[in-house]
Amino acid sequence: MTKNVPELFGSMVFNDEVMKERLPKDIYKALQKTIADGLHLQLDVANVVAAAMKDWAIEKGATHFTHWFQPMTGVTAEKHDSFISPEPGGKVIMEFSGKELVKGEPDASSFPSGGLRATFEARGYTAWDPTSYAFIKDDTLCIPTAFCSYSGEALDKKTPLLRSMQALDKQAVRVLRLFGNTDVKRVITTVGPEQEYFLIDQSVYDKRPDLIYTGRTLFGAKPPKGQELEDHYFGTIKPRVSEYMKELDKELWKLGILAKTKHNEVAPAQHELAPVFSTTNIATDHNQLTMEMMKTVAGRHGMACLLHEKPFAGVNGSGKHNNWSISTDTGANLLEPGATPSQNAQFLLFLTAVIKAVDDYQELLRLSVASAGNDHRLGANEAPPAIMSVFLGDELSDVVDSIEKGVDYHDKEKTLMSIGATVLPHIPKDTTDRNRTSPFAFTGNKFEFRSLGSTASISGPNVILNTIVAESLSEFADELEKAEDFDSALDKLLRRELVAHKRIIFNGNGYSEEWVEEAERRGLSNLKSTVDALPVFIQDKTIELFTKNKVYTESEIRSRYEILLENYYKTINIEAMTLISMTKKDIMGAAIEYQYTLAEVFNAKQATGVAVTAKTEEKMLAKAASLTEALAERLDKLEADVDKVDESADALEIAKYYREVIFSDMSSLREVIDDLEVVIPSDIWPYPTYGEMLYSIK
Ligand code: ADP
Ligand code: MG
Repeated sequence: MTKNVPELFGSMVFNDEVMKERLPKDIYKALQKTIADGLHLQLDVANVVAAAMKDWAIEKGATHFTHWFQPMTGVTAEKHDSFISPEPGGKVIMEFSGKELVKGEPDASSFPSGGLRATFEARGYTAWDPTSYAFIKDDTLCIPTAFCSYSGEALDKKTPLLRSMQALDKQAVRVLRLFGNTDVKRVITTVGPEQEYFLIDQSVYDKRPDLIYTGRTLFGAKPPKGQELEDHYFGTIKPRVSEYMKELDKELWKLGILAKTKHNEVAPAQHELAPVFSTTNIATDHNQLTMEMMKTVAGRHGMACLLHEKPFAGVNGSGKHNNWSISTDTGANLLEPGATPSQNAQFLLFLTAVIKAVDDYQELLRLSVASAGNDHRLGANEAPPAIMSVFLGDELSDVVDSIEKGVDYHDKEKTLMSIGATVLPHIPKDTTDRNRTSPFAFTGNKFEFRSLGSTASISGPNVILNTIVAESLSEFADELEKAEDFDSALDKLLRRELVAHKRIIFNGNGYSEEWVEEAERRGLSNLKSTVDALPVFIQDKTIELFTKNKVYTESEIRSRYEILLENYYKTINIEAMTLISMTKKDIMGAAIEYQYTLAEVFNAKQATGVAVTAKTEEKMLAKAASLTEALAERLDKLEADVDKVDESADALEIAKYYREVIFSDMSSLREVIDDLEVVIPSDIWPYPTYGEMLYSIK
């Protein structure tokens, strides 16, 4: 039985309500102001806040505190300190100071920095981000923090995200002022990330070193039943999974995470959880916590939660749909078509800014979702293609068409429409987008960016999304602020930009071969893999974009580029080492044992001297022998190629080598392993099969 959900919700969060209740009025006000203005907290204020936080945390059973941050590993980091402080007489008291709240100095030398922090400057520091509430997890008070080097460079995923939100805020407010809006103080972006995952039984997970070390299966023959009957999607949730989901919801609610929707996904054993959207910064923190909780709670239920983009070949992998919009502090969604003509002109300008941003920076957007894991999905007919395009739906496309052609738009009621802030009718709201093949779809009042991988932090894609849209808006504001006649300047701008960027709009089937050809004719980019996409990061155009909008410095960009490349080839290297080890240790042994059994039967039959035939054994043995030969050869090749890696080469060269040589060696070795799995009897085959894993939860 769940106790009262509203009571449970946020019970482990030091949220506004708790602050109001526990802080002296003046301190509460000072803290609110700091949060609203994005300033640093004064030490005297911090001391009072820290004391209140500690008392609250101790009442909830906490014994430790930690600065919780998001280094460039993609997972969160925490180092726990207890509250204890020694007292004379061998006793302790529980202490937590303002200094400890606002700043931490983890020994950061082992986090990736891409050369940003030379080892002599091993210390980085963490600083509280008061816009994200502190919370208690596992008896530890967690303080969401940004992580920087002493010279001020961002070493994490939160800092650039906050900067990108600021960039967009600044430009969007400029645009709103042009429309005569004076009451909006801040514009924020909002995100609702839908998270996909797999659940399998712990017992099968434990027997697959590839899942343990790499998060995905490196081999496995197709099970007799995959997802072809389409009977899993939205299907009845099995009792064991349902128990898991209930507990997960409760854990998330306690942390103030707005877990909302849960259902089965397309592949067997695949599920999804979607929260109600929130500010991008909070949504990012919460998504990290959600992924962590998914794994923790699975453990309690004797299951393993797989967050990898492609745990199993042959069935769908997992992604994360990033629903994104822009809102004002007064509660208006700027991507919501309005009820009045002037609201619609404003809506069209924001819409055009997004369309232009996606077209201008399509390669950067592609890069934002690139990873070794996501390479298995993008363009593989289960996820959007690597080509970026915008889906608008029929109604809105008609509006855009008519603006572009400079003709009047007639909606279903034949209302006359012309642009400019004067006579624009109600734009019909088409919320019926079920085009699941578009990477970037307008869904009524938000865009759904569907190319994200399931494991990755959503920070990166949102940093890029916020920044590129901020850039479009800044260009628009520059032009319109100078205009003498705003309406006609707006009219001209919209028409010009929509003509210039309409090539990025595509409402058809993104999975089709024709689209690949059509996109090429339109001059759209198609960066197929991570190694193709990564160099975009250090192009002049990218550096200019980020430095101009103060989101990354050039050295931050270069360091991130190095980290992404390293991360890519290290991932494939770990996969290769795992595959080599599994093949040598167990698969080769199984193949030999199987042949031995066949040979024994063959010999025994022959030895009887009776005129029996042993043709079946002979055939089976021949097949097993030739597969084993191929296995040995391909294993040798993979091992030799791994040895050939030139570690002194430039990171991009190494990454390319892994993509072109190691990755394809692994695929060809896998083919033989899968063939062997099919012929070798279950009692000899050393690993759980796809069928056993995908249907392990009864
Ligand atoms: P689906 O795409 O599966 O049909 P929904 O339409 O229910 O799902 O919404 C998906 C996600 O979009 C939810 O997480 C929801 O909170 C989020 N969402 C709705 N409005 C906004 C918004 N203005 N900004 C960001 N996300 C939003
Ligand atoms: Mg969706």
